[in-house]
Amino acid sequence: MERPAILLIDVQNDFVTGPMKVERAAAIIPMLQRLLTTARLNKMPVVYCVDSHYPQDAEVTMKWGKHAIKGTVGAQIIPELKPDETKDYVVEKRTYSGFFETGLDPLLRSFYKGEGARTVVLGGLHTQLCIRHTAADAFFRGYRVVVAKDGVEAFTKEEQEQALKYLEYVYGARVLNVDEVIWELVR
Ligand code: ZN
Repeated sequence: MERPAILLIDVQNDFVTGPMKVERAAAIIPMLQRLLTTARLNKMPVVYCVDSHYPQDAEVTMKWGKHAIKGTVGAQIIPELKPDETKDYVVEKRTYSGFFETGLDPLLRSFYKGEGARTVVLGGLHTQLCIRHTAADAFFRGYRVVVAKDGVEAFTKEEQEQALKYLEYVYGARVLNVDEVIWELVR
């Protein structure tokens, strides 16, 4: 996998135990822990993209109601996937995409001694919302997209399956198991 960066999307309390919780999210946590361990050991960049809303944001007022409001417990990253403050990056976002009006793109371009990341590996929540929109923006900017299929989840199994197919079909995403991603990262 060429110059990978791991993007962990919305692994925050409100998406795991709060108002936008995904019942089946528990299963992806240990997979993501393994992915993070591998990335950090091999000095690959890890970027958390986290929802950090103001109450007047469109997503809050027009669609989902209050979730991941900046500064609240709900907006905190879940303890199981706590960032390593000496190595990892945290980018705050105010809508689905990790790229939209954030510093994510220049950050990715600064990795690998300025050569930039070439591949983004996506994990976290929700497959058909923030993963999908972040994948779209990554594709538009010329990154290769890999989705860790047992490291992402959606509200329902149907949504999960549909979203993975969409990512593959529209953005040419490679949909791999975390084990397969790890194997490619370390070989
Ligand atoms: Zn949101």
